[in-house]
Amino acid sequence: MNKTISIHKILLIESDQTPANEVRAALAEAGSGSFEVEWVRTLSEGLERLSGKGIDAVLLELSLPDSQGIVTFDKVFAAAPEVPILILGGNASEALAMEAVGHGAQDHLPLNHLDSYSLTRALRNAIERKAIEDALYDEKERALVTLNSIGDAVLCTDVSGNITYLNFVAETMTGWRREEATGKPLAEVFRIIDGTSRKSARDPMEMAVEQNRTVGLTVNCVLIRRDGFESAIEDSAAPIHDRAGLVTGAVIVFHDVSAARAMSLQMTHAAQHDVVTNLPNRLLLNDRITQAIALARRQKKTIAVIFLDLDRFKYINDSLGHATGDQLIQSVAKRLLACVRASDTISRQGGDEFAILLSEIATPEDAAKCATHILLSLSEPHSIGGQDLRIVGSIGISVYPEDGEDAETLIKNADTAMYHAKECGRNNFQFFKLEMNLKAVERQTLEGSLRCALERKEFLLHYQPKVNLNTGEITGVEALIRWQQPDRGLLQPSQFVSIAEDCGVIVQIGRWVLREACRQARAWQEAGLPPLPMAVNVSAVEFSDNGFVAGVRAILSETGLESRYLELELTESVLMEDAESMAAVLQELKAMGVHLAVDDFGTRYSSLSYLRRFPFDALKIDQSFVNQISSDPDESAMVSAIINMGKSLKHIVIAEGIETQQQRAYLRAHCCAEGQGFLFSPPLPATEFAHLLQTSMAGTVIH
Ligand code: C2E
Ligand code: MG
Ligand code: MG
Repeated sequence: MNKTISIHKILLIESDQTPANEVRAALAEAGSGSFEVEWVRTLSEGLERLSGKGIDAVLLELSLPDSQGIVTFDKVFAAAPEVPILILGGNASEALAMEAVGHGAQDHLPLNHLDSYSLTRALRNAIERKAIEDALYDEKERALVTLNSIGDAVLCTDVSGNITYLNFVAETMTGWRREEATGKPLAEVFRIIDGTSRKSARDPMEMAVEQNRTVGLTVNCVLIRRDGFESAIEDSAAPIHDRAGLVTGAVIVFHDVSAARAMSLQMTHAAQHDVVTNLPNRLLLNDRITQAIALARRQKKTIAVIFLDLDRFKYINDSLGHATGDQLIQSVAKRLLACVRASDTISRQGGDEFAILLSEIATPEDAAKCATHILLSLSEPHSIGGQDLRIVGSIGISVYPEDGEDAETLIKNADTAMYHAKECGRNNFQFFKLEMNLKAVERQTLEGSLRCALERKEFLLHYQPKVNLNTGEITGVEALIRWQQPDRGLLQPSQFVSIAEDCGVIVQIGRWVLREACRQARAWQEAGLPPLPMAVNVSAVEFSDNGFVAGVRAILSETGLESRYLELELTESVLMEDAESMAAVLQELKAMGVHLAVDDFGTRYSSLSYLRRFPFDALKIDQSFVNQISSDPDESAMVSAIINMGKSLKHIVIAEGIETQQQRAYLRAHCCAEGQGFLFSPPLPATEFAHLLQTSMAGTVIH
């Protein structure tokens, strides 16, 4: 095997021939190929040689022709700091040689004792030592550069806990410069507390030294900078050992996790909140209800869940756009927040549904009060994008423990009660009752069969006359839908219209009603009966449908009914949704020649200025007012006020639900032109109505 023998190149800078020869002889004795000597006599020659590479060591005499004393050494050292330098000199220059060692020379060799053994040993040692020093220097340098360029902060202490080192990041994060911090106790420079309790966190170094292993720091640790600024940190501490394995200090490595911690908080928040309103979502509400139940169970207390659904929100969203819809939802959220206590939780369940946990109520009546407050507050106009939007809601309430012992049941039952509130005419609240569950199931099955009822031709229309209150003559007719349901018999609109509205089939059903009513009106005319305006009820959902006007036009031309014989009855809720575009649609219908009437007048937000903007021909006073007509003049005053309101708008006023002669007499006395009601005739099937009409044509008037 070939062993590589390293040849050391020695530069000998020596002015005298004799010592130069001695050196060369001594090195030659060490064996051929061990040392190769280049000899120069002057400093300048030496420096020139050193500027090239390849010299492993320099043997230097300090008294040269062109340089004397320690300067000689300094110049050589400056020219090649990486090359070990050994000083050659006699006893006389011992002091100078020592000085050179102080300046960085590796060794000095007295010329008079120069023998091969000691010279080669000195050279080899010097070369080796220099190599080790260089490697150490490199390593230290590498460590320093690493420590200062990593993103982590590094801080070292001695065994008694005083700072020995801080890297650049540690300086920035603690606010202490290394010079100032060195020697200070760790706790003074590295102030950490628990983010939640705000108490001092355990000294990490102490733990590392005590347990003699690397320890992670307490979670949720916060570092307080010298100026008081706080940052969330994550860190670890490790003991430093000496060669004997004894702990001599510790290293703490830490980094700023404020951003990561903020991000994780944000993500938790996002998972539990609704984006549009920033209210808790379904998930968080369930959690809160579960907690509230646990507390209520222990303290024997009552809690309530309110379920709120906005009526016809979908149509605002569809007609005015999602941005407006979102703003309306935000406005509703704000109103709700103002209606409850800080300890209650309002959540958005999605779409137009909100659920509210009332965790501090004494009796269910408190929930009722809160619901009333909510409905009232919601019904105030919402000013959005320069227009006033109106919306009402329906509320269901469930109470713990009566209506459920877990979050899911309470929410489900409040939801069921909410549906019941919708059926009761919206804008009201209902407490959950057990039988509602049966109704909810029924509602579901009805919804299923409602979808096929049109195809199966299960709908029919009944007709109720409108009568001139003075003469008793029939002045018009209103078509009222009925559903011949195979299992349940003849169903009234109150049993299915709101379901049809909620699931959207009302649009198709409405088309059918319109076509059938127009067809019937035309058929009666063709049969020679006196032509009468045919009134058709249109729900807000149908009316908001984009194809509504076109549908009316198509049906009129298809059935051949003149537009002046068609009257559409709309409730005020239609106008509340989007007054501007509703006004435009009404004008279009009006221009077509169709008559327009406000149905159930007085039950909503009737305002004169509001109604004046719309081209109505008739106002139908809701039957609840007619009911109130009695001998008591105070109670009847409201009816006469409404009649006067209608008259001032130059509308025909029609009273609904007249059942007694007394009511008729009162209305007549207050100049109400027309009326409808069981007193004259209930709604009748088509053939019976035709018969009624024929009789009246023959001169019989209804009294
Ligand atoms: P509405 O348009 O106000 O109709 C008047 C309601 O009062 C009818 O109930 C009628 O049968 C009832 N009624 C008439 N005279 C009297 C009376 O003297 N006393 C009492 N207590 N009630 C009387 P009906 O037929 O059950 O309809 C209820 C509601 O359903 C209607 O109120 C209307 O808003 C809606 N509706 C009826 N047919 C349709 C339809 O084809 N489409 C739509 N969208 N809604 C309809
Ligand atoms: Mg009507
Ligand atoms: Mg009505």
